[in-house]
Amino acid sequence: MRITRRTMLQGAAGVAAMFGQRASAVTEMDLGDIRITTVSDGYLSLPESFLIGDLPRDEARAILDEAGIAPGGFAPPCNVTLLRKGTQTVLFDAGAGPSFMQSAGRLPGTLAALDLSPEDITHVIFTHGHPDHLWGVIDDFDEPLFANARHFIGRVERDYWMDPRTPDTIGAARQSFVAGAARRIALLGDRLETAEDGDMILEDVMARMSAGHTPGHMSFEIGEGRALVAGDAIGNAHLAFARPGWPMPADQDPELAARTREALLEELAERGMPLIGFHLPGGGIGEVARTGEGYLYVPRA
Ligand SMILES: [Zn+2]
Repeated sequence: MRITRRTMLQGAAGVAAMFGQRASAVTEMDLGDIRITTVSDGYLSLPESFLIGDLPRDEARAILDEAGIAPGGFAPPCNVTLLRKGTQTVLFDAGAGPSFMQSAGRLPGTLAALDLSPEDITHVIFTHGHPDHLWGVIDDFDEPLFANARHFIGRVERDYWMDPRTPDTIGAARQSFVAGAARRIALLGDRLETAEDGDMILEDVMARMSAGHTPGHMSFEIGEGRALVAGDAIGNAHLAFARPGWPMPADQDPELAARTREALLEELAERGMPLIGFHLPGGGIGEVARTGEGYLYVPRA
């Protein structure tokens, strides 16, 4: 058998299945003629400081204990959203690729398990330019992985990562994010199109600015209020729901991100609109319920 990239990836998916890891899509949602599937890119491995930072420690710890997040590190899942309708096969974000974290970058294998190759993808739509969302768009040979796809990102987001001032303003902790994003955006070149707030990227996909996690972060409304691909605008299932107004250390502009998050959660609860979150558990598809002080994530799976 001739070994190609595709057969290697299929092999990798088989190995993952053998070890009982999630190698296929776990959650599906049918919205009329639109089928939504979340496909795993793996998970991140992060220190607890990434969650708690300067937040009131005891109160935060109690919420995390209740969510089953033990002190030390935590491992949020990465759910890439796949939308299929007619001839459209659309990915929201591209995963981390091979060079960010060992535990992530599994999207090609997961797609192969669904009998999809990168060439089958018709559109790749980015929520933002962080490594776990953008870096997987370029393969080991510095070529766009999704060779037949149109690619979209918010214009504000693209401009931010390409701005020569960004390395000086982003802070030491995220320094490597800038070079990584700028390199990939440059490699995509003309293949990367930009979107503005309110743009209909596809008939059923409306771009919605949801800034704060990054300066040009976008979420995407599917159909008319049928679901929201929230990206990292609602970044976890515990603190972000229980205390949405808290400034979270994972967000680049914590105050703006908190306002965005509060508004989105209230809207999702009010409209009874399903939410698809990149780092939410159970495949990332769920609903938002109001509680006394905040909100609760109700996973579908
Ligand atoms: Zn993320």
